Amino acid sequence: MSRIHASTRTTVLDAAPTDRSLVRCTDLAMTYGAGNRAVVAVHSVTCMVEPGQRIAVTGPSGSGKSTLLHLMAGLVRHTSGALSWPGLGGSPAGRPGRVGVVFQGQSLLPALDVVENVQLPLLLAGADVGSARSAAVDALCLLGIGELASQLPEELSGGQAQRVAVARVLAARPRLILADEPTGQLDQDSAERVISVLLAAADELDAAVVVATHDEIVADRLAEHWRMRDGRLRPSAQDVERGNGDYR
Ligand code: ADP
Ligand code: MG
Repeated sequence: MSRIHASTRTTVLDAAPTDRSLVRCTDLAMTYGAGNRAVVAVHSVTCMVEPGQRIAVTGPSGSGKSTLLHLMAGLVRHTSGALSWPGLGGSPAGRPGRVGVVFQGQSLLPALDVVENVQLPLLLAGADVGSARSAAVDALCLLGIGELASQLPEELSGGQAQRVAVARVLAARPRLILADEPTGQLDQDSAERVISVLLAAADELDAAVVVATHDEIVADRLAEHWRMRDGRLRPSAQDVERGNGDYR
């Protein structure tokens, strides 16, 4: 992992073995491409997510929300700064354990039915077919969509497909759920239903939740608001009122 701009503070934080933070970003930056095609998507972001937190990340399109979530999931590599998952441990592949990502847009595999889509990550992680299937069915039932198990993605409404994508994440019982515009293509009723089941399931699993969203109604369902602009995290009006200008 890059330590180019890692500060003394980071070294101290990384050394704390009892730290429960699920993810910790210190002066984190991420640039796509190089030379005159370089795009700095995330600039010097310092933030952390603690167990049980409910965070909405808002901001205009292109402000870096997806990139920040992908960094926090260990899906893309940061360019500078430091990133760690003290409360989650690592995996053999160097990615954090027990992080689930609900991706922006349609993400179900069209050739697999609903229960096969939900159990696939568990099978890829080495679970046997029986336990993967039973965890998948449990997750679908938790979200109230057990009856969709044998449907194909093309047979689902947008709201149902997003609930299946949420079930796919929950089946692995994550401690941190990162949801990227999970309601982006839904009407308001479906959006509210999806965010309700996501938050209820997170309560059940005792998972922290970070949701990137454009939707104020969705954002208002989460207790804390982070605002991004031009790749930087800005304190929200709510935080400024509380006198809490950063996210450490
Ligand atoms: P948001 O989710 O807030 O819309 P993104 O994280 O997707 O923002 O994008 C932040 C910036 O990074 C934007 O300028 C976007 O065009 C750029 N970007 C995102 N993904 C890529 C990529 N794969 N290659 C090059 N630039 C990208
Ligand atoms: Mg995005």
